[in-house]
Amino acid sequence: MRLPKWPKEVSILGTTYAVIAADTVPSDEGDLCEGLMDEEAKKIWIRKNKDKSCMWSTLIHEIGHVWLRESGLEGNMSADMEEMIVISLEKHFAPALLGLIGKGHITSMKASNPAAKRGK
Ligand SMILES: [Zn+2]
Repeated sequence: MRLPKWPKEVSILGTTYAVIAADTVPSDEGDLCEGLMDEEAKKIWIRKNKDKSCMWSTLIHEIGHVWLRESGLEGNMSADMEEMIVISLEKHFAPALLGLIGKGHITSMKASNPAAKRGK
């Protein structure tokens, strides 16, 4: 599947978060995890992986957390419910979204993709 160029930042509900792909991802517990969003610093950390679709799934999971926090929806749910929603987003919505982008049905993310600008 052809994936979009990896973003340096994402804008969610008008707030820009830096996207940082790193060998290790900081977490509150100090152990390794695949992804983390830092609401105060406006940063999303994603652990580097040779499988880029895995990184994209994790990014969409973290974007889900940002969306729930920035919208205030998270204030109406337990932490378990928030995690269930973003896992569902990651497992069910991300593959469909990435598939549509890969097939050219969604084009708004292509602006930063040089290959797309050449019409390929
Ligand atoms: Zn999560």
